[in-house]
Amino acid sequence: MKTENNKMFSHVYVERGIMEHPRTKRILEKLPDAKIIQIDHYKDVFCRKKQSITAQNRAKALILAENKNGCIYEGAPVCQSFGNDNFYYCSCMMNCVFDCEYCYLKGMYPSGNLVVFVNLEDIFDELLSLLSDRKIYLCVSYDADLVACESLCGFVKDWIDFTAEHENLTIEIRTKSGRCDLWRDSEYRACDRVIIAYTISPQKIAAEYEHHAATPSERIKVAKAAMECGFPVRLCFDPMIYCPGWKDAYKSLVDDVFSQIDGTKLWDVSVGSFRISQDYLKKMRKDMPQSAVVNFPYENVNGYYQYPENIRVEMEEFMLSGISKYVPQEKIFRWK
Ligand code: SF4
Repeated sequence: MKTENNKMFSHVYVERGIMEHPRTKRILEKLPDAKIIQIDHYKDVFCRKKQSITAQNRAKALILAENKNGCIYEGAPVCQSFGNDNFYYCSCMMNCVFDCEYCYLKGMYPSGNLVVFVNLEDIFDELLSLLSDRKIYLCVSYDADLVACESLCGFVKDWIDFTAEHENLTIEIRTKSGRCDLWRDSEYRACDRVIIAYTISPQKIAAEYEHHAATPSERIKVAKAAMECGFPVRLCFDPMIYCPGWKDAYKSLVDDVFSQIDGTKLWDVSVGSFRISQDYLKKMRKDMPQSAVVNFPYENVNGYYQYPENIRVEMEEFMLSGISKYVPQEKIFRWK
């Protein structure tokens, strides 16, 4: 992992104000060959005009920053709340080391570089004030993949430890990483309010669009390992991507998953076809004119692009019917 970090983060921008922060020091120690550049504010680099996200995705820089304005937000309408009332997400990291072609982050952020807010304790304080009068369901790995960055940042362990101590908090850690050593490590204590969520796609979709992420069969294996180690595990068949032969691809995915995983023991499962805000897709189409998934003729429904209704309904119902042979109905969530 050290080698991968070094290859990816050959340049690290660090806000002057957090040069001495213990987490900054720990991260920089893991990147001994990186060129360190001090900056005043992360936005000076992250929000520069005319950045090429496609080029940055081939050689991401790392930006270490302090979050001063809070980074806990109410869940967006395109996100699945899994029946939770107080649904929030947290952006303690912005951007992802993987490079899924359809990822909304490409439309949301002006840069492909990765920002890490090192002052996680201030984010915990922000959360404590919300937790004082309500139960919170918080997705901590939406705008990033924390598991994939765990060797470098250690946020997964910190989130698990914090959640274990606060009964009103349930978190979801979503990932496409193939790491299973974490779940077997006694320092990562399983907690029934820490849901590990794996997004799983058919092999042909992953090979074409989910660059650098673990293969679907690796994700199935680590999901199983996390379950065996006592973590609640969620499988997300979301976003479903339309392609020639999609029925065979998704059928074989369901067969693969449930020949290895006991569906009755999953925490839950989500199903949803690709959808995205119109503004994000507009930007992505400009940046990726050759991408089939980005340039599909989606329908705009109230500002969100999605598959035309006949395709959307057929895909989702096909998947729901396949999954319901293995997973109890009350554990299956469909995005509406
Ligand atoms: S793993 Fe998730 S967050 Fe990372 S690039 Fe893929 S879709 Fe985006």
